[in-house]
Amino acid sequence: MCGIVGALAKRDISKVLIKGLQRLEYRGYDSAGLAVIDEGGSIQRRRMQGKVKNLEQLIEEKPVSGFCGISHTRWATHGVPSKANSHPHLCGDAIALVHNGIIENHELLRKQQQEQGHDFDSETDTEVVVHAVHDHWLQFGDLLKAVQETVKRLEGAYALGVIEKDRQDRLIAARKGSPLVIGLGDNEYYIASDVFALLGEASKFIYLEDGDIADITINGVTIYDASGKEVTRAINETELKADNVGLG
Ligand code: GLU
Repeated sequence: MCGIVGALAKRDISKVLIKGLQRLEYRGYDSAGLAVIDEGGSIQRRRMQGKVKNLEQLIEEKPVSGFCGISHTRWATHGVPSKANSHPHLCGDAIALVHNGIIENHELLRKQQQEQGHDFDSETDTEVVVHAVHDHWLQFGDLLKAVQETVKRLEGAYALGVIEKDRQDRLIAARKGSPLVIGLGDNEYYIASDVFALLGEASKFIYLEDGDIADITINGVTIYDASGKEVTRAINETELKADNVGLG
């Protein structure tokens, strides 16, 4: 099981992403990475094979900051543990994506995308997802629509976090077969593989259901089910505190 953490706020969230990944280390992983949208609207990515601590050191040497970002600890299923296979994956320097799970029809999608002219930077099953999102984003000009169209073509299990250049205020999350929770803070929004990653940042949580896609902006969260219909999901409050569960 890998881990996903994403954040959207009106402050630098890079440290929240790292802390969240550290909280998910118990799940097991072989590499770690993050991407944030910087002040200029560009995607800044850092990745390392090995421990989250190594990623943290890299970020001390080559800092990143931004109000919107996604991060990932990878447990390799397709492609060796390596920096090139680590998430987030990018397409066109415009879209960054993290994925937990397995895309069963990745070979077919890869072949089609190669025929359409896409170059691949990794051996992962995940990379087809970021290319598909990118192409639909170019076609429709909207990241939510791009993810909705993309997941229609995916077979397998996924939790996804997706961000786009020039948008410090939007994060799209989707899940089917892999867990993903949304954390609500004080005008701040998070996604994570479990609530432990977000204790201290969020006290209310929305568990996405299978097939859900969440459009998270700095103004709120809108959730759509697999048919594209807007839906309401329960907001759960947790009594858990980081200190109580030894995460201090
Ligand atoms: N299947 C993807 C990969 O191998 C994601 C693995 C994971 O869930 O960490 O990169």
